Amino acid sequence: MTSLPEIQQIEKRIQGLGSSVRSEVLAYSELDSLRFPIYKVTFGSEDPKAPVLGFTGGVHGLERIGAQVCVALMNSLAELALWDETIKRTLQDIRVFFIPTVNPIGIYKKTRSNPRGVDLMRNAPVEGEAPARWVGGQRFSNRLPWYRGEVGAPMEVEAQALIAAVEKEIAQSSLAVTIDVHSGFGFQDRIWFPYAKTVKPFPDLPLAYSLKDLLDRTYPHHFYRFEPQAQSYTTHGDLWDYLYDNHLQARGEKTYLPLCLEMGSWLWVKKNPWQIFRAEGPFNPIKGHRQRRTLRRHNTLMEFLIRAVASPQAWANLSELQKEDFDKKARELWYATN
Ligand SMILES: [Zn+2]
Repeated sequence: MTSLPEIQQIEKRIQGLGSSVRSEVLAYSELDSLRFPIYKVTFGSEDPKAPVLGFTGGVHGLERIGAQVCVALMNSLAELALWDETIKRTLQDIRVFFIPTVNPIGIYKKTRSNPRGVDLMRNAPVEGEAPARWVGGQRFSNRLPWYRGEVGAPMEVEAQALIAAVEKEIAQSSLAVTIDVHSGFGFQDRIWFPYAKTVKPFPDLPLAYSLKDLLDRTYPHHFYRFEPQAQSYTTHGDLWDYLYDNHLQARGEKTYLPLCLEMGSWLWVKKNPWQIFRAEGPFNPIKGHRQRRTLRRHNTLMEFLIRAVASPQAWANLSELQKEDFDKKARELWYATN
């Protein structure tokens, strides 16, 4: 049967780990005779209130490296969970999940959209404020990129699977952070926080600032550009805006910060210009050494996020005074107009 190397790696890992990991098939993505599972693999605490960290990838099939980075991080954590006493203890208190191939047929067919021509990152029922005409999402045709799906239609199978799984994870969790791995924009690796729908600050701006501050203090030489997504472009239908807004309405004392890791693929193209002529070229490192470098590049970020989620007192439990202070600093840093 046709499969994806990324899915084979996930299945091999699940078999190898036995009962020390929980796995489920969230849904199947289908096209003609193709039928690929969308896996979720979960490590750590089964307490629904426990802090949660989630990694997702492959939402845009063409950005295959995102799925591969997710699988690589999952494999590293799986090994650490076997021998590292620190990680074992941390996983008693927190949960870490991976959904590496959200759009498996897109990965297989090297398309950005899902098998029905829908761009999953434009598919949620969220209206953006004045996004760019095409890139921001369009309803003209599924033969063109950035197609949102029909007005009022249910979300696509792959989007629904992701949303249901993430909603379940964050519903009762005291502190949840997710990071969705993409590639294809800019020369630098960016960590984006909401919103995608508007350039206005989102309600948890102090929290985003606090995490950035913690990252800057802990790893002053890190290479990420930490910023609001909407500073690059705004869109309709962003899945993470949708999840965040829904969570915000009913959250009480609970906290949820959705992040995107947007890997700067233009650098790979700059160093290897001919790859632009390959379908996957603009979005993936083609040369072996560059791919290996990308697959190991985000290990520190994963470890940092695990520690941060396990240590909310260090950055997430903000007093009103700290919130005010960070809100002011964040507005100066990201929203100053002069
Ligand atoms: Zn993407």
